[in-house]
Amino acid sequence: MLSINADRLKKTVLELSRIGYNESDHGVYRWGFTDADMQARRWMMDQARADGFETFMDGAGNVFFGIGDYSKKPAILTGSHLDTVPAGGIFDGALGVLAGFEVLRSIKENEIQLKHPVWVVGTAEEEGRFGGMMGSQAVAGVLNPDWLMSAHDADNMYLKDAMAEHGMDVMNALDAAWPPERLKAFYELHIEQGPVLFQKELTIGAVEGISGVFKWIVHLKGQADHAGTAPMNMRSDAFMGLADFAHEIERIIAEDGTDKTRITVGKVDLKPGSPHTVPGEAVFTIVGRDMSSDVMKELADSCNKALSAIARKHRLKFEYEQVSWLNPQACSEKLTKQIEEKAKARKYSCLKMPSGAGHDAQFFTEITQSGLIFIPSVNGVSHAPDEWSHWHDVEAGCNILFDCIIDSAQ
Ligand SMILES: [Zn+2]
Repeated sequence: MLSINADRLKKTVLELSRIGYNESDHGVYRWGFTDADMQARRWMMDQARADGFETFMDGAGNVFFGIGDYSKKPAILTGSHLDTVPAGGIFDGALGVLAGFEVLRSIKENEIQLKHPVWVVGTAEEEGRFGGMMGSQAVAGVLNPDWLMSAHDADNMYLKDAMAEHGMDVMNALDAAWPPERLKAFYELHIEQGPVLFQKELTIGAVEGISGVFKWIVHLKGQADHAGTAPMNMRSDAFMGLADFAHEIERIIAEDGTDKTRITVGKVDLKPGSPHTVPGEAVFTIVGRDMSSDVMKELADSCNKALSAIARKHRLKFEYEQVSWLNPQACSEKLTKQIEEKAKARKYSCLKMPSGAGHDAQFFTEITQSGLIFIPSVNGVSHAPDEWSHWHDVEAGCNILFDCIIDSAQ
């Protein structure tokens, strides 16, 4: 059985990790469309070119390289993102792109004859600096001019300006769409970014789908009062409402959720926010996730009912704004099964599992069958400098990617 070259893969992972590396906090800084991000894209193209692969950058900043003419026969595409969150780790995204590169090198080196083209993509702006997954959305053809012109980051830097600084025109992202007939399948290798595989001491995750997610901003409005003079039974204390809701979460999940449900209150603001004042307003977020959109609707409905009842009990006014709603995306059952079978053939332990985090693969499901392979994250840590995956797991994940691609390209 042929395998990939693990030492060569390790070397390229470490080389790319130096682009945007910060000596003081040991994090990688390749936030979308910063200088370091663009430098990584050029580096990737130089590497691919040096090995004799065709390469280009599309209008969205996605970098492509590969073998074969996809205008004649549908391609197997693999990859992930080259950008990182600020102070991110060295594997998130980068692993999927460089594993694709290693697969191409192994195909070439072993002179493996394939019927279908094999291409790799290093997507742009996956981490959502500008509020989307721009690169893969562009390939899937789901972007629109209005969003492109208005998208901006938390510091009010516009996407169009960030791209213009690198000589790019944001509108060209609309030309990056791939027609579905050009693709046979998409594969992504990614670190799990959660603790499941690591804790269970498993090697491979065959991802069945990516959780849907909704985000609310909730306002509970009461009355700000003097904390000494307002009697306990005459208050409209917004914090009490929030605290009651926190205790409802477990019940809501038990009644309407599944074992894959997650509900999180991650950001809370009490107003006026003074130790000697009864909180007159609580503003907080609710983020709900599940693998079924019907379950998500029931969870949202139950949150709404619970908050309405709590508001009545504490004499509060309840309002919420639904900031986003993303439906769950199923990976291809066929490819998930293929990943499980390839893992079995190599005697790697494997678990069929959902992904709680979003990935490029979720947009590729719009245009082709997609498979997502996970490897363990040590202690489940990611989006932080101490994100780590063991090299033997990196090797195993890349071997599975290799096996799946060879199989699909026959
Ligand atoms: Zn990622």
